[in-house]
Amino acid sequence: MKRMKLAILSESPADEAAVAILAEAVLGHPFSRVQPSLRARGWPSVAQVLPSIIRHLHFNTDADGLVVVVDSDDSIVHLAAHDEPDYYHPLCRLCQLRAIFRQATKKLPPARGRDRVLRGVGVAVPAVEAWYLCGREDLVTEAKWIAGQEVLKPPYTRRELKQLVYGTERPNLQHETEIALREARRHARDLRRLENDFPGFASLATDLKAWPKIG
Ligand SMILES: [Zn+2]
Repeated sequence: MKRMKLAILSESPADEAAVAILAEAVLGHPFSRVQPSLRARGWPSVAQVLPSIIRHLHFNTDADGLVVVVDSDDSIVHLAAHDEPDYYHPLCRLCQLRAIFRQATKKLPPARGRDRVLRGVGVAVPAVEAWYLCGREDLVTEAKWIAGQEVLKPPYTRRELKQLVYGTERPNLQHETEIALREARRHARDLRRLENDFPGFASLATDLKAWPKIG
């Protein structure tokens, strides 16, 4: 059977390694990695380079799909209401990433035997470290973050999440990667808690589950 090929774009190589494990768990089969042409580290650079990456993958590689995961930071969190047809929240990063995919793929002619590169988009609220803490710290959920945001009292800061996850606010890449992989593997055994507590991950899972079977 042909192995699916995926490109993964996130905010650090450690995050990309973790996202790869989570994507594999959702898809239920292993895949090969294709390198995106450009790197982006953080918002807004991801949004800026994404159209070029999509075009590059479409014409110059045989990537089947592109998975993008960014942190929400302090931006508006995607809500179920945003999923209404034709709705788009200009300040929501999930809505923005979906719109960029739509724009970038709309007019592309088929290439390399496929119509377009498949889309997988997720947003970690407020940062991917919250996903790593999911199931370990009951206080850390997307709903609690939104509730805090609404009263201008965030329940935790991104620095606190880093401290909780890595034991330091400034982990080196090796330490960051080890922890990211450990927590992603924990979720990969059972994704239900992460999907339940983090709709920004569930959105990514929904994208991946809708992909046609390759091979
Ligand atoms: Zn949205």
